[in-house]
Amino acid sequence: MSTKVVLITGTSSGIGLAAAVSASHAGFTTVATLRDPARADALRKAAEAAGVELDIRRLDVTDAASVEECVAGVIADHGRLDAVVNNAGAGHVGTIENESVDEVRRVMEVNFFGVVTVTRAALPHLRATGGRLLTVTSVGGVVGQPFNEAYCAAKFAAEGFMESLAPVAASVGVAVGVIEPGAVASEFVANVGVKEDAAAEAGVYGPALANYISRTRGAFANAQTSEEAAATIIEALTADRLPFRMQTSDVARAFAGGKLADLDGSRIQTMTSAWVA
Ligand code: NAP
Repeated sequence: MSTKVVLITGTSSGIGLAAAVSASHAGFTTVATLRDPARADALRKAAEAAGVELDIRRLDVTDAASVEECVAGVIADHGRLDAVVNNAGAGHVGTIENESVDEVRRVMEVNFFGVVTVTRAALPHLRATGGRLLTVTSVGGVVGQPFNEAYCAAKFAAEGFMESLAPVAASVGVAVGVIEPGAVASEFVANVGVKEDAAAEAGVYGPALANYISRTRGAFANAQTSEEAAATIIEALTADRLPFRMQTSDVARAFAGGKLADLDGSRIQTMTSAWVA
């Protein structure tokens, strides 16, 4: 029997890179995709150091043609697709009065519509294998966080989409789940690119933003590694039964659990108001 084939998006760094290497190590034929093949050096080096092989291909989740082309190429070359990990994503810090609606749309394009595009292209092939569809959302897909309106909206949207799709996909043999990391020490924070003087430029929101940035730096000081977060993805790919929702650490479990038990919303509002006070 041929080995199972997994396709992972956003593997140039961080969780996606670690998941690609670990999946290959776990025995999957691993299609590691990135939007810019020129940024594959770190991925190649990590695969070489781990002694594993990867099939590296271009896929930009915001470019539907690149998604279709990539999935078609995988089927042409490997003949099957057993799992997809929607991992590509990008953070964003801002608040609506200080930014344009177009900026919010861009955040949705990568973190939500990108997931939708890859999912739609992959589903017929996952149906054929009785496969798995995983999406790396975030604890920010469960708990709305200050200055993360657009990012959390996109991650909430991805969670709602997947929670709704799960029973429908299960009816045709495809298991759907979300992976919720808390703080992970990847390129994520650097890629958000918050400027040193962001608070000074935030007008009336400056003091709250300064407090948020300072609190967030503290949270990321205790971040788990990308490899630790990726271990949960491998567990989700290989477990006999896929739970719908998996967190990547005890901290993430406690954080998401607090929200899921917060029926009137007061617990989260008290907590996040303290972050900006
Ligand atoms: P990262 O190191 O910044 O990796 C993000 C990956 O997504 C990069 O490979 C990036 O590629 C890729 N990407 C961005 N836009 C893309 C597009 N249009 N098409 C294809 N790939 C694209 O951050 P990470 O922490 O590993 O993030 C992985 C996932 O975990 C994301 O969905 C993120 O939201 C989620 N997450 C992260 C944390 C955290 O604290 N790090 C917490 C919760 C959830 P380029 O190199 O080309 O930009």
